Amino acid sequence: MTPQDNLISMENVEKFYGAFHALKNINMSVRRGEKIVLCGPSGSGKSTLIRCINHLEPIKSGRIVVDGTTLSDQRSIDVVRREVGMVFQQFNLFPHKTVLENCILAPMRVRRIARKDAEITAMKFLERVRIADQANKYPAQLSGGQQQRVAIARALCMEPIAMLFDEPTSALDPEMVKEVLDTMVSLANDGMTMICVTHEMGFARQVADRVIFMSDGQVVEENTPTEFFSNPRHQRTRAFLGEILAHH
Ligand code: ADP
Repeated sequence: MTPQDNLISMENVEKFYGAFHALKNINMSVRRGEKIVLCGPSGSGKSTLIRCINHLEPIKSGRIVVDGTTLSDQRSIDVVRREVGMVFQQFNLFPHKTVLENCILAPMRVRRIARKDAEITAMKFLERVRIADQANKYPAQLSGGQQQRVAIARALCMEPIAMLFDEPTSALDPEMVKEVLDTMVSLANDGMTMICVTHEMGFARQVADRVIFMSDGQVVEENTPTEFFSNPRHQRTRAFLGEILAHH
């Protein structure tokens, strides 16, 4: 494997919140086109880990490189943020903007794309997530599942090289989980590089190339989904799987 095949890499990353050690010596690399599912108990540092990738959280030490750019000064942070899409549990759409406006804002401001072109791209991705007919509505007029699909379309409008998902279905009513997961599966099948924090183990089995299990700020275990689920090596992994499979 050549270094260029690694789209995202984290080396010896340490993260603290005050005195609390949230990430302990994280080493991880994600190849172009690879799909990673990140799982683990609540509070284990999953969200923190993916937020560090686009510097929503600063790290204490270590190195994060995204598509050849090492996160350091503001310029490098801007480059990485432009290239990496993120989808949050709470959608984070602009409430006072329509669906279409939500999708064209960043391309116009950050990529300097003309409104007309941004709208064409936005409609393409809204169709892709099967929500083009809602383009002129406001987020509050949509269901949670629809809002999350808009959030995915909005991220795609920046033509990202990778997508980070932070528990994208956790805030949804059960009947809406599938429409969002289906969208994510289709994105995965199209070859998008993805890191997904999720408890949806069916999704992990279906699309993940690798499942990474975290506990107490550390990567405890990583494996292919087949091995991870059938042959978990660590006691903490077995305990977690027992919990999660009992509740899903
Ligand atoms: P997970 O995504 O696995 O649930 P998080 O990354 O959200 O875990 O949190 C990891 C730990 O860091 C938790 O103990 C959490 O309370 C703590 N933490 C997260 N964000 C902050 C913050 N902004 N300030 C202080 N502690 C935080």
